[in-house]
Order: sequence, then C-alpha cells, then structure tokens
Amino acid sequence: MTQITNHMPTAELQALDAAHHMHPFTANADLAKKGARVITRAKGVFLTDSEGEEILDGMAGLWCVNIGYGREELADVAARQMRELPYYNTFFQTTHIPAIALANKIAELAPGDLNHVFFAAGGSEANDTNIRLVRTYWAEKGKPEKTVIISRKNAYHGSSVGSGSLGGMVGMHAQGGMPIPDIHHIEQPYWWGEGGETSPEEFGIARARLLEEAILEHGEDRVAAFIAEPVQGAGGVIVAPETYWAEIQRICDKYEILLIVDEVITGFGRTGNWFGSQTLNIRPDIMTIAKGLSSGYAPIGGSIVSDEVANVIDGTEFAHGYTYSGHPVAAAVALENLRILEEEGIVDHVRDVAAPYLAEKWHGLADHPLVGETSIVGLMASLALTPDKNARAKFAAEPGTAGLICREHSFANNLVMRHVGDRMVIAPPLVITEGEIDLLIERARKALDGALAELTDKGLMQAAA
Ligand SMILES: *Cc1c(COP(=O)(O)O)cnc(C)c1O
Repeated sequence: MTQITNHMPTAELQALDAAHHMHPFTANADLAKKGARVITRAKGVFLTDSEGEEILDGMAGLWCVNIGYGREELADVAARQMRELPYYNTFFQTTHIPAIALANKIAELAPGDLNHVFFAAGGSEANDTNIRLVRTYWAEKGKPEKTVIISRKNAYHGSSVGSGSLGGMVGMHAQGGMPIPDIHHIEQPYWWGEGGETSPEEFGIARARLLEEAILEHGEDRVAAFIAEPVQGAGGVIVAPETYWAEIQRICDKYEILLIVDEVITGFGRTGNWFGSQTLNIRPDIMTIAKGLSSGYAPIGGSIVSDEVANVIDGTEFAHGYTYSGHPVAAAVALENLRILEEEGIVDHVRDVAAPYLAEKWHGLADHPLVGETSIVGLMASLALTPDKNARAKFAAEPGTAGLICREHSFANNLVMRHVGDRMVIAPPLVITEGEIDLLIERARKALDGALAELTDKGLMQAAA
C-alpha cells in the first residue's frame, strides 16, 4: 500500500483521494476531474492547504469549530483520557467520569428545566433519538396515537433516515425513500424569498399559523412535536421575522405539543448567548446539540431533555442507544471545550464585540449591486444574490448557478464562504477578531466583485420571469 503523507505532491493526493474516498454531499465524478483542495493543518481561524495557502475559514469547518483551531488543551485532554479509559459504555448499569461531568455541565448551562442529557455521536443521531423519544413519551402518557412530528421545508436536521426525514430538503428526500411516515413539513419563514407583498411582520405570523393549521388538520390527538432550528443554518441562514417565534411558542403551548429546538448550530455561543433559544426567547422541551459542543474536536452530540419529559421516559426502559453514546474521549474533549468557552468569555466576546462588529460590516455589503439582502444573528450571516435587488428577483439561471460562481471566487480569494442555492453564508469561529473580520469582509467583497463580472460576462444577470 502507498504510504500517504503530507509531503506528497497535491496532484498525487488528489488522485488517491478520488480513487477511494467518497465525499459526502458531492458529485464525486465531477470533483475527481478538478481535484479536492487538501487541507493539512489549521490554527485560530486559518486553514493551510497542501500548497501552503492560508485560507480564512468563514464556516468554522461545518459550523462547529467555535473555539477556533489548534487548542492544545483539547489535544492534551484527549490523550490523557485515552490513556486512562479510552472507551466504556453506559448501557449496562455502568457510567464513567467524563459522561457524568459533561451531563452535569450541560444541565448547568442549559436554560429552564432542561436538566437531562441523552448522548449521541452527532446531530443526526441525536435527532433520531428525538423522534423515538417524543413518540415514546406520548405512548407512556397513554396517547400512542400522537406520532406526527411537524417540521419545516428547507430545514436541516441531519442526514440519517430519521433526521433526514425531519429535515425538509427536497434533494435529500428524492433519494433513498425519505421521509419516513408521520413527518409533516410546513412552509419556512423566509420573507425575502417567499414573502411577496406582505410585510415581514405579517409574514412571520402567517408562517407560524401554518403550524396551527397543520395541528388542526392532523388533529391535536395525533401530533407529538414540532421541531425547528432557531435560525435555519444549512437552509441558507434564514432569520425568521421578529413576530415568528412568539407565535410558534403560543401555538405549542396552546395545543401542548412538544417543542424540539435543534440547537446543533446555534448552541454554545453562536448567537451571542449559550443557546439560540435564549437569544430568540424560545422555551424548548428538548434541545438537539452537537457541533459546537466539542468545537468539532471530537464527534459528540445529544438531546437535552426537560424534567417533565425525562420523568416520563425514565418510567420505562427506553430501548435506544449508541455504542458511542457519551464516549469518554469525546465527552472529556467537550468538557474542556466548554471550560474554554466559559473561562475565556467567548460567548460574551460574540455578544459584545464580534457580532456587533460583523453585523455592521456585513450589512455594509448590501450596497453591492449583486446583493439583495443581508441577514445576521450573532456570528451566523447570509446574503442573497440577485440580478435585480429592487424587485427581490431570482435568477433566470438554474438556482445555485450564481451561488456556485460566487463560492468559487471566494475560495480562489482564500475565504471559505458557502453557497446555499443563491445565498452566501458564513459562520466563522467565535474567537474571530475585528482585524480578521475586516479581512473576511475584504475577501467577501472581492468574491462578489468577481462573481458579478463573471455573471455579467456570461449573460447570467437575467431575472427569472
Ligand atoms: C449539522 C446539523 C445536524 C446534523 O449533525 P451531524 O453531526 O452532521 O449528524 C443537525 N441539525 C442541524 C441544525 C445541523 O446543522
């Protein structure tokens, strides 16, 4: 077998990658032709590739590297834990220190009576837990008919069969037999793209009331839960109008359906509070967590459950669990990550320094001819590309064409900015400084300039009819 090292020529690494490595969410044959960019190391907010280029990671990996790259403390904790107890399970009346400590810490940080944690290895697994958890909850309460879970179109809740069914991604549902039964999707609160002539405030209420309509349509006695991200992440960083969440909360309370808030991106400081639910004033019964829980240094996620839900579930054997639920190394790494977030005041840095500064600069991009709107909550931000900003127009070209072009220009300018259709999104590490934000904005503007020139050249600045 070939010894594969950092020192191989990039083209050789790309060829070996293409030969045997299947990338997620990728047309692998197309990627094989151009070759994947090989990332070799990272520090702070910067990645380094195999050509020695320094890239500003505007996406914190996949929305997860909250404390930034290169923190030795996490490496030390992982090594120590691996030496002491690399693995043990918590299935058969056993437990271990990292799981005890992490569950206690999470219960301390989580708002309200969210005091109980069921661990998983990531967000998809945690949302699969949630599907079974809410249905089991109602069955235990003598209402086994309550199985329907209401979610939203263009939501992202993961990529396993269960969590992908909860999500509302059309492209995912088209492959492999999703969604599973009894998952119902309502329209998303995306005013810029779908609001038409209504005001954002009216639109927020109208979209929230779709939850009430769906509950009444299925019957209150059939609906188990509503699941939503505080701010849709993978759907394009879609920030609901201000009226939306209060109305959603009112409806959940009125019909006594469980509210699952998917905090996989918004948790652990992203919005300037520990949880997005605090920023948006939402009272979840269950929270999904992953990503920033360990800043991506180790795979771990979970469900944080209210006293009421835990009390009911604890009355039976919940026949569910993963080999790596509460994995000791991942749990120890997560705990160290939370210590750093807390002791270094990183959540305060987001709220008081980085988020206000980025908001000012990001909204400044709205003067660009290609930009239709800018949205931001904490350190997650997006902008809509448009051929005609006054008309809030979409492109005549296939959705995502302009977004992809803009992303390519961004990557060429050493900024990782992602596209979701024709929206550009960023979610940098929470430790980003004002100087680094300036650099991010400078590169984003270059990407927009480059994209505008290319779209104009190719005759693509045409609005859809
Ligand atoms: C990433 C994500 C998930 C899935 O998490 P994985 O760790 O990839 O399984 C679930 N929900 C949201 C909101 C996410 O952004």
